[in-house]
Amino acid sequence: MTEILSFNNVTFSYTPDVPDARKAVQDVTFAVNEGEWIAIVGHNGSGKSTLAKLMSGLLFPQAGEVRIMREVLTEENLWEIRSHMGMVFQNPDNQFVGATVQDDVAFSLENNGVPYKEMVERVHGSLKQVKMDNFLNHEPHHLSGGQKQRVAIAGALAMHPKILILDEATSMLDPQGREEVLQTVQALRAKIGLTVLSITHDLEEAMLADHVLFMNDGKKYAEGTPAEIFALGDQLVELGLDLPFAMKMTKLLQVQGVQLVGQHMTEEELVNDLWTSNFNK
Ligand code: ADP
Ligand code: MG
Repeated sequence: MTEILSFNNVTFSYTPDVPDARKAVQDVTFAVNEGEWIAIVGHNGSGKSTLAKLMSGLLFPQAGEVRIMREVLTEENLWEIRSHMGMVFQNPDNQFVGATVQDDVAFSLENNGVPYKEMVERVHGSLKQVKMDNFLNHEPHHLSGGQKQRVAIAGALAMHPKILILDEATSMLDPQGREEVLQTVQALRAKIGLTVLSITHDLEEAMLADHVLFMNDGKKYAEGTPAEIFALGDQLVELGLDLPFAMKMTKLLQVQGVQLVGQHMTEEELVNDLWTSNFNK
């Protein structure tokens, strides 16, 4: 396994000159291997977006270092390194610059001097990957939320990134839009081995990840597989996370005396357990 990104004792404050000011990110260390899907979860203000900005060089740490493809991110190599990263943000409406879907996806390619013929191929190719190739000449603002975010992902993909960072990219979408975007990202990951960092306060989304980083007050509170993170149970709620429906339901049923085996992260697991529980006895 090849390491693609790491944070080593990274600390960042938005007000570094104020001695006792709270740090947005404090002494955070973690590593990501190529092709992994990492979810970063945590309450509002826990430092997730600051982590995203530190990994894309929009901010630089006051202490510690960020490495991308084993190179320490600096002001000097920032542009080269950033060309390997795509970012998609929360609000689908704030990310469009083109009058049509294809213009929009072409924008960064054009800015980077990609030749016309290759540009057309990349625009069509990346829109196809997110299943939006039938919308080339549509106006972005007429699309649904899920379609908009898929176009935003296509814009990032057109640059052939190694790492895709999604900062709450599904949080403003309806369930169908969310599903579309997540399926798109899963398919891409399987197909082109993209490394995905998805920042979310949605634990159901975090369940899709290989590995979860749990942030609390700027610090890494825990990390592990989704199952290991869900095993933290009540701590998740105490630290401001919203449990998936199946977990809340499991708890409520257990309180009512229904004997269920452990915790259920998905509705399917819960349903299967209910078939064999003492529910009907
Ligand atoms: P999250 O994305 O988890 O909600 P953020 O990384 O946005 O958290 O914020 C972490 C902390 O840094 C919060 O206390 C927030 O108020 C503060 N913060 C975020 N952005 C700024 C900024 N531009 N200037 C000053 N403080 C900020
Ligand atoms: Mg944020």
